[in-house]
Formats: sequence, C-alpha cells, structure tokens
Amino acid sequence: MIIVLDKSATPEQIQQIASKLEESGYQAHPIYGVAKTVIGAVGVPDEEKPGLMEQFEALPFVEKVIIVMAPYKLAAKAYRPEGTVVRVADRVNIGGNHVCIMAGPCTVETREQTLATARAVKEAGAHMLRGGAYKPSTSPYSFQGLGVDGLKILAEARAETGLPVVTEVMDPRNVELVCRYADMLQIGTRNMQNYDLLREVGKTRHPVLLKRGMWARIDEWLMAAEYIMKGGNENVVLCERGIRTFETATRNTLDLSAVPLVKQESHLPVVVDPSQGTGKWSLVTAMSRAAVAAGADGLIIEVHPHPEQAWKDGAQSLTFENFRQLMAEVRAIANAMGKEM
Ligand code: PEP
Ligand code: MN
Repeated sequence: MIIVLDKSATPEQIQQIASKLEESGYQAHPIYGVAKTVIGAVGVPDEEKPGLMEQFEALPFVEKVIIVMAPYKLAAKAYRPEGTVVRVADRVNIGGNHVCIMAGPCTVETREQTLATARAVKEAGAHMLRGGAYKPSTSPYSFQGLGVDGLKILAEARAETGLPVVTEVMDPRNVELVCRYADMLQIGTRNMQNYDLLREVGKTRHPVLLKRGMWARIDEWLMAAEYIMKGGNENVVLCERGIRTFETATRNTLDLSAVPLVKQESHLPVVVDPSQGTGKWSLVTAMSRAAVAAGADGLIIEVHPHPEQAWKDGAQSLTFENFRQLMAEVRAIANAMGKEM
C-alpha cells in the first residue's frame, strides 16, 4: 500500500500515519521527495487494505492511497504460509517433507511397454506412474496417443503396481473421462493458458500437475494455478519443465531458479521435469539432483524399456538401469536436505 501525502503535510502528520501503521503491526517506510512525501506500508494483508485506505483517505493531508495487491490470491504464499501438501489417491503426498518421484514412459505405446516400465520404476522406488494417453504433438501427422485405450492400460498398471497414475488431459470435454482412470490430471505446457481447460479441471477435486508454459513468466504460471483454485480445486502442484530461450543445445532451458522463487511466492508444491527440460537423457540425473537440492518437492522422469525404440521422446528417456542409478543419487540429495524419499 502506498500513501501519497499532500505537499502541506507536516512531520507530525507523517508520524501520525507511521504510528497508526506500526500500532497495527505493519511497517511504514516514508520516502521524502522534493515535491511530496509518500509512505510505503509493508505487511498489510490484502483484506485489511480497503479499510485502511478509507481511513487514510479521510485525512485532509493525504492526497491518495494506492493499493498494491498480489495478482494471485489463492496461490499466494500468504494464503497458506505453512505450505500445501497435495495428497494423491489417498497414499502419496506431494509437498512437505517428502520428495515424490513420478516416472514412466512419455507415451503409452503398448500394454507390455507400459506394464514393464511400471514394474521397473516401482521396484526402483518411484511413488507414481506417468504416461501420456493423449499426446500434444507439434505435427498433426505424428502419433497423437492411444486415447482411452491408453487410459485403460495405465489403470491396469496401477492395479498391478499400486502406483497412482498421472496423465495429461488436453480437451475440456475429456476431463471427466480422464478422471475416471487417472489419479492426477496433467496440464501440459502448451495448455497452461487454455483457460477453459483450467476452469474445467478446477471443477473437479482431482489433483492437478500444472506444467509451466514454455513461454510463460512465473506470474502467468501462478495465475493459471489461480484459475484452477478459483473453481474450488486447491490440489494444484506446479511443474517446472523448461522454457524457450536462445539456447538450442538443450531442448528447453530448465529454469531451476523458478523452484525457490515460486516457493517464496506461493504455498503450492513444485516438481521438476528434467526430461522435457533438457531433451537429453545424459543430463537428466544431474538436473534431478540439482532440482531436489534447489528444494523441489518431486520429479517427473521419462523411462522406457528401450529408449532407442520409443515412439516419442526416446532421446530424453532413461533405461531402467539409468533410472535406478538416478533414484540412488537423488535419494542421497533428498536425505542431505532432511527429506525422505
Ligand atoms: C510430457 O510430459 O510428455 C509432455 C508432453 O510435457 P510438456 O507438456 O511439458 O511438454
Ligand atoms: Mn515427453
């Protein structure tokens, strides 16, 4: 909140405002300019601002009061300063003192490929299964996913391994269908600003993994979360998956500074996708370690029985053996951070 004083305001009057703010537990930061003095009021909760504004504007020596509100409210840190833990399928926590590992193929290709991968990641200690049944593709001629048949394979893999499933939903008309098969809805990078889709998943109570748009600023990403939460669904987990920059050596530029920054701004858990983030399997383990060291609440990792044969994203997919190695290295970092995994 910024209080702009009239030119004629005396030092006593400036003090009167400062005292009023301080008595209420807020900070007053007067800035003495040549033409006028302004007072920055820090720490005033959004809901107190209109009331205080009215009181201050009633004073003859106050020219105007400007309210500065965080554009997001439900996603803002102040809404739940202790942080949010999102619970998936009544058995997996994302947030708090736990590092959650979601792993599986980029795409559900066959029953065998998905079941084999689910078993392998479960054995290596993963907590959730990932896999796309609806695939966003740059080209309309490339594979678009198995659709409902893919959802059924994922559900079968869950029944066998006990791993809750996270999978992408692209079309608002499919939200109900995907909810029937999956435990968590993934909003892909290309749909982060598909507001109709965000509103639709906001009507459900299914946990949502909201990927950052590849061109989205952090405030835009949090506003997308706000859309979902405004509908009453507060089970939102943010996912940093890399953004587009001038660099072409990696598929995207994985913005790990987003992890601690979002944690300052928001109470929502944050996970990292180093697979889409780098596009190269050989970089995935190092960036996974770094993500957890930066405070990420989890990782989402692409794993394939034969990456060289994968229909999609083989170059960034780990073999079972490489995934086991990743788990061992990330667990050491998690433990060093005082977290369990
Ligand atoms: C994926 O997880 O396979 C995927 C398509 O992710 P993104 O939306 O981040 O590109
Ligand atoms: Mn992928």
